[in-house]
Amino acid sequence: MTVLNIEKYGSKVLRQKSQNVNEISKDIKLLANDMLETMYFAKGVGLAAPQVGKLLRLCVIDVDEKQKSPIVMVNPEVVFGEDKKYLEEGCLSIPSFYEKVKRFDKVTAKYTGLDGNKKEVCAQGFFAVAIQHEIDHLDAKLFIDYLPGFKRKIIEKEIKRKRKRKMGDW
Ligand code: ZN
Repeated sequence: MTVLNIEKYGSKVLRQKSQNVNEISKDIKLLANDMLETMYFAKGVGLAAPQVGKLLRLCVIDVDEKQKSPIVMVNPEVVFGEDKKYLEEGCLSIPSFYEKVKRFDKVTAKYTGLDGNKKEVCAQGFFAVAIQHEIDHLDAKLFIDYLPGFKRKIIEKEIKRKRKRKMGDW
């Protein structure tokens, strides 16, 4: 398995919509495993294919602190959501920034597993947030898009400053 490069804010690929995965090929399985490895290495709880430069509807999630509950979602979609709440979130493509975003606290999502079978999952809290956050990536959306304009501008300024000084992961 390989740790892949994670695309950061400003990269064009993060603003392009992903295509459906038509077949769970060997390459898709390999990519999913590399994405899990990359996510664990970066200490993240979710990673979507566009974040590693692939415009495919594929994401991996593991909200277990022990990193023992990986879930690979191919062509995922939220089919039900309720009870909107504010929860703090971050993104491996926007390292060191955390903001509260209003999302469904409970969701039901449908997806295809790496075994090719159709699956359904009911999620709550942090897991539900992760699913919505990762599916957003497939639709070219980032969590900071939900913030008011002035807050986004502050973050963009901070990113520029961090990039110049090569601070943290920037
Ligand atoms: Zn993200």
